[in-house]
Amino acid sequence: MRRKKQSRNGSPTPRYLTIKIQYWPIPRLVLFSPLLVILCYVLFSFVYSSLRAIENRVAIPTTIRYSPEIASSLQFAKLLAMTPPKSLSKEPVIIFHGSRNRREVALTFDADMTYGMQEMLSSDEVQSFYDQDLIAYLTKDQVKATLFLTGLWIETYSDTAKELAKNPLFELANHSYSHKSFSGDCYGLGEMSDEEDKEEITKTQTLLKDVSGKDTKLFRFPGGCYSQTDLVSAKKAGVIPVQWDVVAHDGFNDDGEAIFHNVVDHVSNGSIIVMHMNGVPNEPQTAKVVPRIVEKLRAKGYTFVTVSELLKAKQTPEIIIYHSLVSP
Ligand SMILES: [Zn+2]
Repeated sequence: MRRKKQSRNGSPTPRYLTIKIQYWPIPRLVLFSPLLVILCYVLFSFVYSSLRAIENRVAIPTTIRYSPEIASSLQFAKLLAMTPPKSLSKEPVIIFHGSRNRREVALTFDADMTYGMQEMLSSDEVQSFYDQDLIAYLTKDQVKATLFLTGLWIETYSDTAKELAKNPLFELANHSYSHKSFSGDCYGLGEMSDEEDKEEITKTQTLLKDVSGKDTKLFRFPGGCYSQTDLVSAKKAGVIPVQWDVVAHDGFNDDGEAIFHNVVDHVSNGSIIVMHMNGVPNEPQTAKVVPRIVEKLRAKGYTFVTVSELLKAKQTPEIIIYHSLVSP
């Protein structure tokens, strides 16, 4: 007769082994929480540094910059051919600079003219709002530049505008008709209504076509002031707004040394430099300081190109397109 197995201490061996699983939520949390904290910190640092990197390269804080990869996919070259890809067809675009990979810069000179400035000319309060010395220097030293002309300036200096159009060094572009503000007070320029936006652009488009025989697509807002509505207006008028990433601050500035450093200390590859071509008294130092700026930048290896040339290169997929989502 078989006897029931007995353990050493005499009690029967259990048929099934029961294993107690103990679940300790709190000790596990204690174990993993430092890891979670480290993970969160790493993620936060990454997001924060990415945002800062983007912010540091945005000229106007309220403007969002597409990443180079996205900008590349937007086919910038097509944009300059004035046939925006479908992905951009609904989006207004504004330019701040060109490729950061090539040692090229664009000097731009604005020819402002308001109705008030016209009165100053007719009353002989001011002799001229054309900086002949500046243009003579640029021509003599073969420096390419883009000239943003207001319609009133073209009407005041129509023969000069025609001569400038013939000069292969210069590209003529649109700086509105009467240099009123498109958005806000804008340094006292006086804001116009949104309805006037289109006319301020198209009138000068027509004048530029008359003097140059060409259609220009580059436009600069007076004072650089604009809203989202204005970007849409510009797009409807068939122009691309061009801002800048280097400001000379040459307007009403007698400090040539400061103007010089405002430019040469801040230029980088692809920069668009904004200055003026109204001459004395509005810009008393521009013609004197530009030769120094050109000499210094050439010594640093920069080549001067027009804005269209700066932006045109098809081999620059990293070119930056800015898309303004909110008004600055
Ligand atoms: Zn201006």
